[in-house]
Amino acid sequence: MAVTESDLTYLRRCVDLAREALLDGDEPFGSVLVSGDGVVLFEDRNRVKGGDETRHPEFAISQWAVANLSPEERAEATVYTSGEHCPMCAAGHGWVGLGRIVYAVSSAQLAAWLAEWGVPAGPVAALPIGVVVPGAVVEGPVPELAAEMQALHRGRFTSLT
Ligand code: ZN
Repeated sequence: MAVTESDLTYLRRCVDLAREALLDGDEPFGSVLVSGDGVVLFEDRNRVKGGDETRHPEFAISQWAVANLSPEERAEATVYTSGEHCPMCAAGHGWVGLGRIVYAVSSAQLAAWLAEWGVPAGPVAALPIGVVVPGAVVEGPVPELAAEMQALHRGRFTSLT
């Protein structure tokens, strides 16, 4: 299944959530959970500025989904996200049995940008989702959104005046 116009609409909402996070002093990541029949169920953005580095939106989606959806509803849902899941979030996704993932920017793209900007690598390897969850159905990256996401990530390391 390729990325569709409606996928792009949800991804643009993820980019908006990422921008909201950045402007609030968090890292620019945003994610949206959409049901099998196209209803937005839950959305969140990065919330690590308080010091809890596990507060990623994709992990929040897994926790919300397991509390609120049946296994069948989880399998039919799609997770849209501005950046490919990190291994923690990919594992959460796999363990709770969520469905398709569509991301704007890959972990490899982000890692390359950070290296180019001289930002030290984080403590967790930037593994692709498919390595962590071999059965996951994953779409991305989406070239139309790369420049905008690169600018948001660049914004973490420059003043936002
Ligand atoms: Zn994560």
